[in-house]
Amino acid sequence: MVATLFTNRIGGVSHSPYATNNLAFHVGDNAELVAENRRLNEAIVGRTQFMNQTHSDVIALVDGISPQDPNADGLVTTEPGVALGVLVADCIPLLLWSRDVVAAVHVGRKGLLNSVALNAVTVMASLGAEKIEAVLGPSICGKCYEVGEDVYEQVSERYPFARAITSKGTLSLDLPAALSHELAEHGVKITRSSICTVENPNFFSYRRDGVTGRQSGVICL
Ligand SMILES: [Zn+2]
Repeated sequence: MVATLFTNRIGGVSHSPYATNNLAFHVGDNAELVAENRRLNEAIVGRTQFMNQTHSDVIALVDGISPQDPNADGLVTTEPGVALGVLVADCIPLLLWSRDVVAAVHVGRKGLLNSVALNAVTVMASLGAEKIEAVLGPSICGKCYEVGEDVYEQVSERYPFARAITSKGTLSLDLPAALSHELAEHGVKITRSSICTVENPNFFSYRRDGVTGRQSGVICL
């Protein structure tokens, strides 16, 4: 039995600009308030392992909660009761599962290009995962992720499904579309959130607000 959760800004104790349910320590918020937010969330999903995310392609195998967050952008476990968490504010919180293996992955533009999600699928498969399913949580959408021409060309050359136009008619990237297509090509069954973190004020958005908090995607066997 797999449980998944995507948090938003609601239900925490942090103050503006982190109001209210900020789960990240590294963004300038009061550490005691972040710890309380994490406690409130763990009351729902159980003890959660987060990671020190750097837009890398590194996947860490987790067999228990560690006091030190691993340096990784994807976590994989086969341990029931060990929740895995990814922190985001516009990037895609990607949760993957099969019967006995789960993963939480941080996928932004760099992560799409370095194939961090496929690395997680490979690690899961090496642990016996079959019939992998995935859900892409709320993230910046193709109408909002405006980019310059260089970045547009760099990404869309390799990921034609990323080609998009903003609502004002400029070049943009649809990262969820590109990631969904890539995972589907590798046999992963996809579900996608239709929520855009820039457009929906109930979510933290780095693109919209700059200094802000982080919401999470959490998965647990
Ligand atoms: Zn949008």
